[in-house]
Amino acid sequence: MIVSYPVFKFMGMRSSLPLPSWKVVLTQIIFYFILEDFVFYWGHRVLHTKWLYKHVHSVHHEYATPFGLTSEYAHPAEILFLGFATIVGPAITGPHLMTLWVFGTDKGYRKLKAMKKSGVEDGGKQM
Ligand SMILES: [Zn+2]
Repeated sequence: MIVSYPVFKFMGMRSSLPLPSWKVVLTQIIFYFILEDFVFYWGHRVLHTKWLYKHVHSVHHEYATPFGLTSEYAHPAEILFLGFATIVGPAITGPHLMTLWVFGTDKGYRKLKAMKKSGVEDGGKQM
């Protein structure tokens, strides 16, 4: 927050009234998801090259279980590298702060859903 707020402000983020229309918010969020998927996919492919896999990405693949929390387990360099996929869309468009909140809330909700599906939320019991 201390670092990201000044960065997004520099990139053109607004936090004042008027709020953007729902069409602008929806269009930007759809754009962010498509761009994030594209950048994440190709970034992940690059992480599977010989040198990067051996020195960085192999940490992420230590766990072979399809479990929500293990998807977040990674080398710090990988977290920075793939975190770029999430912020590139907002960095390009300079959205309103409310759009970022909606985008971030949906990402958090999807992670919680993944954790619930894997049984983390209910103490490991499968539903
Ligand atoms: Zn991988």
